[in-house]
This record gives sequence, C-alpha cells and structure tokens, in this order.
Amino acid sequence: MKTKLCLLYGGKSAEHKVSLQTAKAVIGALDADKFDVFPIYISTEGEWIKGPQLQGPVEDIKVLEYKEGEAIAPNALSTTLSTANSTGSESYDVIFPLLHGPNGEDGTVQGMLDLLNLPYVGNGVLSSAAGMDKVIMKNLFAQAGIPQVDYVWFTRRTWEKEEDQAYEIAEKEIGYPCFVKPANLGSSVGISKCTNREELAVAFKEAFQFDRKIIIEQGVKAREIELGVLGNDDPQCSVAGEIVPKKDFYDYKAKYEDGDTALIIPAEISEGIYEKMKEIAIDSFKALDCSGLVRADFFLTEDGQIYMNEVNTMPGFTPFSMFPLLWKHTGVEYPQLIEKLVTLALERHEDKQ
Ligand code: ATP
Ligand code: MG
Ligand code: MG
Ligand code: MG
Repeated sequence: MKTKLCLLYGGKSAEHKVSLQTAKAVIGALDADKFDVFPIYISTEGEWIKGPQLQGPVEDIKVLEYKEGEAIAPNALSTTLSTANSTGSESYDVIFPLLHGPNGEDGTVQGMLDLLNLPYVGNGVLSSAAGMDKVIMKNLFAQAGIPQVDYVWFTRRTWEKEEDQAYEIAEKEIGYPCFVKPANLGSSVGISKCTNREELAVAFKEAFQFDRKIIIEQGVKAREIELGVLGNDDPQCSVAGEIVPKKDFYDYKAKYEDGDTALIIPAEISEGIYEKMKEIAIDSFKALDCSGLVRADFFLTEDGQIYMNEVNTMPGFTPFSMFPLLWKHTGVEYPQLIEKLVTLALERHEDKQ
C-alpha cells in the first residue's frame, strides 16, 4: 500500500517562492513506489488550487512557477482535505504543510488539520505559533534559561503614536549595531541592520510593512552555526553546519538569489561547543513543545559565547538547503529524511488520540 501524501505548498506569506522551491524538490524526491503525491497549491491571495504542476528549475527561485490547477472553493476545503478520491471514501494518510512564514508555518494551517483530525508533518499549533513569533519565542527561551541577545519590541500603533520615544527606548535598551525584524516572518524578509538613528527609522518602517509587531535585537559579531533537530518526545541533533555569507549578513538575496553563501558541514567548532549547542537546541525544542523537526540557528562569538538566535519550525527543505544537508552529513539521505518525517507525523497523530 502506498502512502497517500497531500503536499500543501506556496502560501500567503512573503516566503511563498521559497515554498515553491521546496515543494518541487520534495515531489521530485519522493519514492513513487512508496508514495502517491497529491499537491495543493496556495496562492499569495490565499486561494487553494488542487493538482497544479510546478515548472522551472528547482535551483532558480525567480523563475519557478505553478501551472494552472483546479481551484477549491473555500467552503469545500475541509471536504477536499478529508477525502483523497472523488468518491469521498478515502482520506489522505498524511499532510505535508510545506509552508514557510505566516499562514502556514505559524499554526493556522496546523489548527485546521487538527480540526479535521488529519496527521501532518512537523510542528503542531502551539510550537508553530510560538516559533513564528520571535518575541513570544524569545520570551519562552528566556524562561527556559536559554542564552540569547537582548531584545525589545514594538507594535505599529505604539510606534505611530510615539515614534521618537520608540527609537529612544531601542537606543537605550539595545544600542547599535542592532537588527530590526518583523516579529512573524522568515527568510530575512524585512530585516535590517542599523548603526544609527537614521537607519533605525528606515528599518522600523520597512519591518512594519510586514507585521504589526517588530523586534529589535542587539547585533552581535559572530559566526552563524545551525543544527537540525529531528524527533518527537526524544529529539536528536544532526551535525553542526556553518553559514558564511559573502555580505554583511545573511539576507534574502544571499539566501536564495546570489548563491555565493558558503555552507560548511560539519562546522569547524570544538567538541565542547558542539555538545553545548546540542543541549541548547534540545532545550529550545522542548521549550516550545516542538515535534517533527526544527532547525536551530545559533550565533557563536569569537570569545566562545553561544547565543540561540531562533528555531525554524519548517526550515528550507530543498536538497541544497541547510536542514537536509545537515542530515545528509549525519547519515540520513533526502528521501529517507522525508520518510522519517512522515513516520514521526503518524506517531504524533497517534499520541494525540
Ligand atoms: P530564517 O527563518 O530564514 O532563518 P529569519 O527571517 O527568521 O530567517 P533571522 O534568522 O532572525 O531571520 O536573521 C536573519 C539573518 O540576519 C541571520 O542569519 C544573521 O545573518 C542576521 N542576524 C539576525 N539577527 C542578528 C543579530 N542579533 N546579530 C547579528 N546578526 C543577526
Ligand atoms: Mg526564522
Ligand atoms: Mg524561517
Ligand atoms: Mg534564521
């Protein structure tokens, strides 16, 4: 019996394109003897479309496109998801929400799947939502004693009301250099590094384009190390990898367009640092009650200080993305990684019953 896997991809967030790339790679890697794949595309307007094909090379995010499929009426969404065939007698075995950013990686889609009692890959409602909101995530990490940089946050309304006061607070509490980020996003969209008040004002405006809430973090001069975590109640870590962007920081272009960022796997770090990072990665996974997978992103300063930057509850997932590469170097090839995630999804679903 083949596993009927429904792949949700695209999505309403600013990380839409990244999801197309991931979906294309996963469809290409699934073993046709083991899986029947049913793709559902979600447009940037939030329309759900059944059975479209992706066109274009997976390596080039700029030209990847989907080909027309059949639109699903919003009121038919739950029926469509609950039934894998036209007679409505069968349901999917598992849903893979390959979605990044808000309206996908943030618990919304996960909540719908829970209501429909469908097994799905990756994190549940709580961990997805907490992991998407950098302020909530950092508050939970602080409570768990996880080392991180200082941060403050503002909503758009408070900033609009008392603009100068917001900058003064950021300067007093955080200072320069700092990073300004939309609270709920990924792929570095809307993120700026600031070294003075002028840049800070521009950065606030930019970040507020994407979210009603933003976070300002102390900027650190550090190496960027990432670990993959895989599992449910007994999560395991991959080897560590290092990201070496050619520019000032790892922005959207460096991630997906320029292609000149070096990924060094395994990262050249001491056994002691690696052990400490593993411990922090697992603590972070547990602090958000994660399941399935996360990619844990760290900063490592010259004097050996480790800071947890963030976890991503649905990290980039093409064969040349960090998460799958980390597992490849740990001994889990791409198709096996997908199968492992499906197994974990089914296990988690059983635990919930
Ligand atoms: P993704 O989900 O794709 O990993 P993101 O949008 O959630 O990314 P972050 O990982 O928080 O964003 O930040 C993006 C990049 O910006 C980091 O990889 C790093 O290069 C830089 N950066 C972010 N915060 C800091 C900081 N506090 N100090 C130094 N550099 C930072
Ligand atoms: Mg992120
Ligand atoms: Mg992300
Ligand atoms: Mg990151």
